[in-house]
Amino acid sequence: MNQQSPGNGGYECASAPVEQAAGDTTDAVVLPPRVFIETVEQSPVAISITDAAANILYANAACQRVTGYAPSELIGHNESILSNKATPKSVYEELWGCIGAKRSWNGLLVNRKKDGTPYLADLTVAPILNEAGEIRYCVGIHKDVTDVHHLERQVHNQKALIESVVDSIPVAVALLDSDGKVLLDNHAYKKLFTDLRGGEPALQLLAAVPGFSLDELVQACAQGRGFTNHEVRFDSGGRGEPRWFSCSGAWVNEMEVSVDSYFESTSAAYLLFVATEITALKREQERARMSAVRALMAEQQMVQGIREALSGALFQLQVPVNVATAVKTLLERREGDYEPVRAVLDQLCDAGNRAMETLTAALPPVPVEPLALVNLNEVVRDVLSISTERLLATGVQVDWRPESVLPALNGYQHRLRTLVKQLLDNAIDAMSEPGARGKELEIVTRANGDSLQLLIQDSGPGIDETLRVRAFEPFFSAWRAHSGRTGMGLALAQEVAVQHGGDIRFEQASGKGAGVWVTLPLVGSGG
Ligand code: FAD
Repeated sequence: MNQQSPGNGGYECASAPVEQAAGDTTDAVVLPPRVFIETVEQSPVAISITDAAANILYANAACQRVTGYAPSELIGHNESILSNKATPKSVYEELWGCIGAKRSWNGLLVNRKKDGTPYLADLTVAPILNEAGEIRYCVGIHKDVTDVHHLERQVHNQKALIESVVDSIPVAVALLDSDGKVLLDNHAYKKLFTDLRGGEPALQLLAAVPGFSLDELVQACAQGRGFTNHEVRFDSGGRGEPRWFSCSGAWVNEMEVSVDSYFESTSAAYLLFVATEITALKREQERARMSAVRALMAEQQMVQGIREALSGALFQLQVPVNVATAVKTLLERREGDYEPVRAVLDQLCDAGNRAMETLTAALPPVPVEPLALVNLNEVVRDVLSISTERLLATGVQVDWRPESVLPALNGYQHRLRTLVKQLLDNAIDAMSEPGARGKELEIVTRANGDSLQLLIQDSGPGIDETLRVRAFEPFFSAWRAHSGRTGMGLALAQEVAVQHGGDIRFEQASGKGAGVWVTLPLVGSGG
């Protein structure tokens, strides 16, 4: 098929001069001249022979099939009789330029049949030189390629239509081969390429879809496996907020266009990858989840506050009751009339015990929570998010260094949040105590063999070695600037750590404030 090139008006000029036909003595079989005449005469291709100015001297029978003119109607006319007057002048100039340079020319012209029907002619013209090397004749061979042109235009239009539709859809679309090479994409995908900056977006997102990493693509292709609405979280290496995408992939087959597969058609599979950004939706869901977490923690704090207040009252009540009981026992061993005093003491003990029973009954139960697989990083993130306002108000700078991949812990998510919140609150308080070294808070998580570790390192005044164990006792408080605290925070945090089979201990690194290490075993935790 003729190669149409918009740049040159659809023509081609052969670079080598046309060989002189006359006198060309071929060693092979010498055919009688009549064979050549009959060959041209009976050729299914339209062939005309003109003088050097394109006046037609001869036209074969096929010319009539293409143009509608009988050879006798063409002979004596210039080839311009076939022109539909729609071909640009520059095309003719090129045609004649080639002829003048004694080279052949090929291109497309808009011709008109005898009945006035326009058609697209794929024309090859060549000069025929005489022995002196002068142009004596010209030969023109042409065929009607209107249908091919229509098909080409249709394919072109359809491609343009599909491309503009694909371009205008607001989701990122890319077509990949099984080697992960992107063959086609749209505007939204190109924008993603700029946004994600870390390389081919499709490959980055596919890496998070099980079974579709670059190494697994060939296998997925062979099995024709696809995936639908797989949610992928994209963290751009600490730059900005994470983004979320809902990704789908389906394999599409395309017939091979290579010549090799002309008689035996083969097809190639491509992965149609579609990524819809769902960050806004996810943020909304996250906001709703955080509101629920906040409400839950507020409720738990209230319950805990009531439990602490009642426990404190019970503790304080227990002292006089114990004293009264001791005095009563003492008097029982002594001689004398202590009956009235014992009666008063009995009444006192009874009243005290009743009051303690009433208080014990009023203790709100610890909320029941199911065991679940918990990501410690997420727990810390939640607590940081809840404490954002307080951190900002106190001017504390947080250096949060989570382990990038942390195994899930079998535990109680809310209780672990309470644990982290207590330690974080203590750290913030410590950094406003007299003697604080600064307002830098370091939080680290790491997987250490069979356990997870959390470090909350403050830059407060530090904790004296003698207090590092006592600090975990209920109602113990050594705060100077926070006298209102009940001293139950560390006791509660330790209770949660013990419930998970772990422990909490203080460590003091030189030049730093207090560092609290929480160790939570992965095996046998959440008992
Ligand atoms: P014109 O004014 O005749 O020519 C347009 C431009 O062509 C001129 O400005 C000039 O630059 C150039 N030109 C024309 N004649 C010559 C010449 N003798 N020498 C150098 N430059 C010249 N045309 C078709 O439209 N359809 C065909 O199927 C077709 N088949 C052809 C087959 C052969 C073998 C040859 C040699 C030519 C063929 N032509 C064909 C070209 C045709 O002869 C005319 O040149 C063309 O049709 C333009 O004619 P015009 O009357 O519209 O313009």
